[in-house]
Amino acid sequence: MYDMLIKGGTVIDPSQGIDAVQEVAITAGKVAAVEASINESLAKEVIDAKGLIVTPGLIDMHVHAYPGVCCYGLEPDVTNIARGVTTAMDCGSAGARTFPAFRQYFIERAETRLYALLNISTMGIISSKIGELVDMRWADVGETAAAGRLNRDIVLGVKVRLSSDVVAMDDKLDALKRGIEAAESFGGIVMIHVGDKETPLETLTTHLRPGDVVTHAFRQWGGVASAHRDVVAELREARGLGIIFDVGHGAGSCSFDTVETALANDFQPDTISSDVSTISVEGPVFDLVTTMSKFLHYGMELYDVVRCTTQAPAKVMGLGEGLGTLRPGANGDVTILSLDEGVFTFTDAEGNTTRALKKLNPVATIKDGRLYRPWLR
Ligand SMILES: [Zn+2]
Repeated sequence: MYDMLIKGGTVIDPSQGIDAVQEVAITAGKVAAVEASINESLAKEVIDAKGLIVTPGLIDMHVHAYPGVCCYGLEPDVTNIARGVTTAMDCGSAGARTFPAFRQYFIERAETRLYALLNISTMGIISSKIGELVDMRWADVGETAAAGRLNRDIVLGVKVRLSSDVVAMDDKLDALKRGIEAAESFGGIVMIHVGDKETPLETLTTHLRPGDVVTHAFRQWGGVASAHRDVVAELREARGLGIIFDVGHGAGSCSFDTVETALANDFQPDTISSDVSTISVEGPVFDLVTTMSKFLHYGMELYDVVRCTTQAPAKVMGLGEGLGTLRPGANGDVTILSLDEGVFTFTDAEGNTTRALKKLNPVATIKDGRLYRPWLR
């Protein structure tokens, strides 16, 4: 007997190469079977997903989920599990000194499965007016390393924000090196946030290690696009060496111009994340599925968009075999989406708009076998 059966939907699970109408059975919080046909008399609860898309629980690799402390933080569940995201990674809202309360009062209480990158600044991001690295004494390798080791079940690495509003020009490389040193001490990844005209991205990526992540890579300037409407050659090489190029849309960091240039030059994002925050949740970002819809609109296949929000981030985050997949035995995390047709206006971080004819919307989310069904009929 299965606890739950999701019937009739189009299953897209790049981890198994599936893109077909299939049925998904869940038992005891785990995926039990994915097959062409499963008898519904074998299930206690049947969910009709006819006409809908069924994917592994979506993973948003860039969120801010520490409201009240991080100036960009949002209530974790409102923008994640209620919007189709079962697993999310907070990117540097907390540093070593502010992480204990983040863990106790948010991460351990959220319905969304939350992981985190520690900010190399031990205070984390508490003000949009005063960057967390304007005084480099906050960039404490020892404290960050210790907090990372102590919380290794949740802390996946270190975040270093390298734009000029956060850190002085002369301190950038030092901040990055400290972030790498701290992450290395507990075997974590490093994610850099980029975004200014002064520091070309290719000068920063030379310091990264395979598996490290550049977020905001598709921004207007300081991203992957060159002035000649191509992808910067050094960044192609960096990708070849294993550097990950993430979207991290956010209020200021995704331009349709760059997305078009990158896709036209065969440079899809490795991972699609929202960076949804207090300053972008009411637009232009809204949520992860809207960000996914933008890449769909600019020509990515739905299968690839799903890969960039399931299998790919699970691998980058080092989550093992249980997440980002519907393989039998994996966590019972499923997202049910509709691909709605109509006329939708999408806005990028520069204020440019485009009219799209399709948009993904979340219908229901299942995490560890539990159903959250805000829009299920
Ligand atoms: Zn962010």
